[in-house]
Amino acid sequence: MVGCYQCDDEWGWMLVTDRSHGESTGTGTAVNESPPDDDTIVQIEDLTVTFAGDRGVARVIQEVSIEIEREEILGVVGESGSGKSMFASALLDAVVAPGRTTGSVVFNPRSGEPYDVLELTSDRLQRVRWESIAMVFQGAMASFNPTMRIRDHFEETIRAHGKNHGERMAHAHELLSALHLDADRVLESYPHELSGGMRQRALIALALVLEPELLVMDEPTAALDLLMQRSIIDLLASLQQQFDLTIVFITHDLPLVAGLSDRLAVLYAFEIIECGPTGSVIEDAGHPYTRALLRTVPNVDVPVTEMEPIEGRSPDPTDAPTGCSFHPRCPLADSDCESTDPPFERLETDHDVACYHTEQSRDSVEYTLRDEEVGP
Ligand code: SF4
Repeated sequence: MVGCYQCDDEWGWMLVTDRSHGESTGTGTAVNESPPDDDTIVQIEDLTVTFAGDRGVARVIQEVSIEIEREEILGVVGESGSGKSMFASALLDAVVAPGRTTGSVVFNPRSGEPYDVLELTSDRLQRVRWESIAMVFQGAMASFNPTMRIRDHFEETIRAHGKNHGERMAHAHELLSALHLDADRVLESYPHELSGGMRQRALIALALVLEPELLVMDEPTAALDLLMQRSIIDLLASLQQQFDLTIVFITHDLPLVAGLSDRLAVLYAFEIIECGPTGSVIEDAGHPYTRALLRTVPNVDVPVTEMEPIEGRSPDPTDAPTGCSFHPRCPLADSDCESTDPPFERLETDHDVACYHTEQSRDSVEYTLRDEEVGP
């Protein structure tokens, strides 16, 4: 396992169509200079997304570097406005214009040479999306064309990518069944004829029909009730095993993803500030923000008076604070925190935290866990 280091865009039902996207500029670093090892499926370095506007340049992803291991489930968590959705879009060079994406996202397929997604031609990018890396967004209703049956979406995707119709439709049946759906009925239905949970599962099946190696999910269960969320989490765990998938699950819901992920990366103010094995991050978070986030989780074992919201607001992307981006909200901030960005410190095996005062943080920012909040 490799640790992390310091380093909204809707596709809708346009699964197979091209669309305008923002400018991307890779570092120009040749992949061959430092190719990812076989266990790494994606190597992200200095990924940055900016938007130039009237108020200045907004940095909505700030020099994110992380390696995603093959067949792992990586949970990416953060509060609203932390840059989660932009991170998802940037992974597939899908940031809309006038956004500008820099850095590198090197994808390392099982067969073939690694390549930088940000350096691909438009044609190649269209093939990579859905064939190698697929994406599922929140709200399946908006992701399907309401005038097309679910079957039409599958067939159009298969046709647009030049794949064998019979083989792929057989796989569609397999996937829908694995997601506990009546495949024949669902394929003949229009999106509005399905419940929210059925639509979201059909969308997951559609995303997987071309057998991508990596599935990126941005708040895929946010619009669903708690029971359906749990059910989809269980199904994803089983799909991951069945199809040797790598999953990046992006959410604001830390307890939800903690039950699914192998590793957690915590985003704050457009950067990763803590990353490590889920159990280690949940049980012994080192960053005051992660600990404060865990303190906001509803917990029947803790009196409401002890559940505190995090004071203050996330920084404005056009006016990020100097030094540690959390310092205006951090009870432990000192002059070092205000002047210089903290480097990552390794707490335990593969558990890295960007903070000057992890010991103080662990001693003074308390939180209580429920049993089910500890990872798989
Ligand atoms: S570096 Fe300083 S301000 Fe930032 S989280 Fe750590 S203690 Fe708080």
